[in-house]
Amino acid sequence: MNLLRNSYNQPDSEGRFGQFGGRYVPETLMPLVLELTTAWEDAKRSSEFWVQYHSLLTSFVGRPSPLYFAERLTKHYGGAKIYFKREELNHTGAHKINNCIGQILLARRMGRTRIIAETGAGQHGVASATVCAKFNLPLVVYMGAKDVERQAQNVFRMKLMGAEVLPVTGGAGTLKDALNEALRDWVTNVHDTYYMIGTSAGMHPYPEMVRDFQAVIGKETREQILECEGCLPDAVIACVGGGSNAIGMFHPFIDDETVRLIGVEASGHGLDVYNGHAASLNGGRPGVLHGNRTYLLQNEDGQILEGHSISAGLDYPGIGPEHSHLFDTGRAQYLTCTDKEALDAFRLTCRLEGIIPALESSHAIAKVGDLAKEVGCGGIIVLNLSGRGDKDIDTVATHIESAPA
Ligand SMILES: *Cc1c(COP(=O)(O)O)cnc(C)c1O
Repeated sequence: MNLLRNSYNQPDSEGRFGQFGGRYVPETLMPLVLELTTAWEDAKRSSEFWVQYHSLLTSFVGRPSPLYFAERLTKHYGGAKIYFKREELNHTGAHKINNCIGQILLARRMGRTRIIAETGAGQHGVASATVCAKFNLPLVVYMGAKDVERQAQNVFRMKLMGAEVLPVTGGAGTLKDALNEALRDWVTNVHDTYYMIGTSAGMHPYPEMVRDFQAVIGKETREQILECEGCLPDAVIACVGGGSNAIGMFHPFIDDETVRLIGVEASGHGLDVYNGHAASLNGGRPGVLHGNRTYLLQNEDGQILEGHSISAGLDYPGIGPEHSHLFDTGRAQYLTCTDKEALDAFRLTCRLEGIIPALESSHAIAKVGDLAKEVGCGGIIVLNLSGRGDKDIDTVATHIESAPA
């Protein structure tokens, strides 16, 4: 038996992963957060809860998602075998729905009658609107006014499914401001409202809870790769925004020391460009945001920076606390990928595999070639294809004059 088991992957009772995580919330919010923690602890132990969760993942989301051998990409790079975990085939086109299914079931268990969420690019807003429509619960989505403009399609999707989208004009009018507004709402509407967070960040118990809902990705991958290759992969790789698709893939492999865990952050215009990237680990430093201590994009005075990535889903100014811990302990490695590298990987994947990947996922694809060479022939890599790229077509079109020859 491995005595190190769970040394990395369970937070302490305060929700700390090493020096990261915790519950940095105002007094007024503390009872809510403790109530949520109790409800989650209870749900976690309920087999009925997990039966419901898995049943919806099967019938509504379309799980398990396939594990696919990317044969042409493998040949192209000439190293380790590259597999894609096809999260882009889920209902709503990404991994975010896995988490929303879990949280809506928890909200119902708690008897909550109103859901709030915040969203940047709108992907979490859409996934939340989807589950709220399904369970007939009213949803209010806070979204920066600037993002409402930039993400008109997703705003329309949310509205089609009955969500109310409230533009937040304070601050820069982006995700950070929407986060603050959602927290304000939660404090004000203590008794009936459930706050649905979209990534493995925020105050305890969210980072652990979201991870456990996304861990279905890594659990399926483990079974699927053992089935088709008879062994574990040499490495798993995923893009990192707040970190939920990556931690969902990493988590079931954390105790397997032979499996390398690789996250890829967005370095946008470059790590050396002020406010020009979204690499919280490689280009930020520890601080407190959104109720937890973690690596953050911040200026010298500790003001949170907005960051930049071509991919709207990666420009969260922080990162889940468990990743900060995996980074500091060295159990996982975190690479960076620029806008340009992601665009090139996007085009290559369309051409070679007949799959249009999300720009977020393209950041991981951009780094898989070097990794495949490093691991070498006979090795195996699984890449988490977190979402499909249909939503990114317009962005890509403005960045390339014509289709590749
Ligand atoms: C939101 C999103 C991400 C980034 O979020 P994580 O919590 O880091 O997973 C990555 N890929 C896609 C397709 C997304 O929609």
